[in-house]
Amino acid sequence: MKESVKIGTLFGIPIELHILFILLMVFVFAISLISGRLDIFVYLSLLFFTVVLHEFSHSLVAMSRNIKIEKITLFPIGGVSAMEKMPEDPKEEFMISIAGPGLNFLFAALTYLIIALIPGGSSRIFPFFDFRLFSFLDLLVLFFKVNVLLGAFNLFIPALPMDGGRVLRALLAMKIGFNAATDIAAGLAKLIAIMMFLFGMFFNWWLLVISFFVYVGASQELESMEISALLKGIKVKDVMSSKVIYVSEDMSLEEFSDIILEHRHMGYPVIKDGSLIGIITFTDLARIPKTKWREIKVGDVMSKDVVTVSPEDNTIDVLTKMMKLGIGRVPVVKDGQVVGIVSRTDIVRTAQVLKLRR
Ligand code: ZN
Repeated sequence: MKESVKIGTLFGIPIELHILFILLMVFVFAISLISGRLDIFVYLSLLFFTVVLHEFSHSLVAMSRNIKIEKITLFPIGGVSAMEKMPEDPKEEFMISIAGPGLNFLFAALTYLIIALIPGGSSRIFPFFDFRLFSFLDLLVLFFKVNVLLGAFNLFIPALPMDGGRVLRALLAMKIGFNAATDIAAGLAKLIAIMMFLFGMFFNWWLLVISFFVYVGASQELESMEISALLKGIKVKDVMSSKVIYVSEDMSLEEFSDIILEHRHMGYPVIKDGSLIGIITFTDLARIPKTKWREIKVGDVMSKDVVTVSPEDNTIDVLTKMMKLGIGRVPVVKDGQVVGIVSRTDIVRTAQVLKLRR
């Protein structure tokens, strides 16, 4: 089952809702209906609308630096823009990271101007944590507050992988280099995560979830830094297998299962007249009941939009891409011809061996 559902595309970026996010929205909507407090649903919708604005700001700045955005996914704890690769230049990381909170502060400022023009408007801002909704003005005030809170929360907590942590890492990286900067920023992030966890246990359960996300995210940053250092300069052509096992679209799933048994790879390119028309994996096969394997053909269940890479691509970028998309192997294509296949395992094992030899 897919973990997220696509709801649309904006500026060429697919927007997806994670299944947990959908459940949260349904749950909150049900609670609002039962308790007769529709404002709860309004709060959450406004919050996530603002999160989408925030993520778009990151994404558009990244795209202006030629970094492709695979998708934006909304999770119960916020949004994530899946970038094809992380920027290498600290200035780019700085610009991309600050763009999200920056847009929130910009919206807050603009909304504040409108509020200030309305008689009695600015007096409604305080007390700050009073979110009651009675009028359109209250909705504007709420939008102002949500933007201030979201911008501040993301920017002023210097914990990787939150925006504040990325800004800190980028600033450090300009002085002491990317690796040393990541070490410091990730160490600080873990410390903050532990403090958030302790604080969250007593005061705010939301923080418990965030602390977990920060701790895991910081560990992943360290790990990916280590892997990218190991894989530096290693191209797809250095690790791919050139001996590609193809299948054809009119092969039955029964025959396909023999191929898997013989070669024990999890995915195979589907070739027609020398060119790639799809990819079929073990998972595609497992979805179909065995009784139907004789009648159903490879062409019926293969995925048609195939992600491919070039032999000259950097392995680290390809690994990041595969992890983001949740795929295990991709065909390597040169001048329209499949010249090899590369798997996540191929790249990770290469890094492991290089680590041993270091
Ligand atoms: Zn952000």
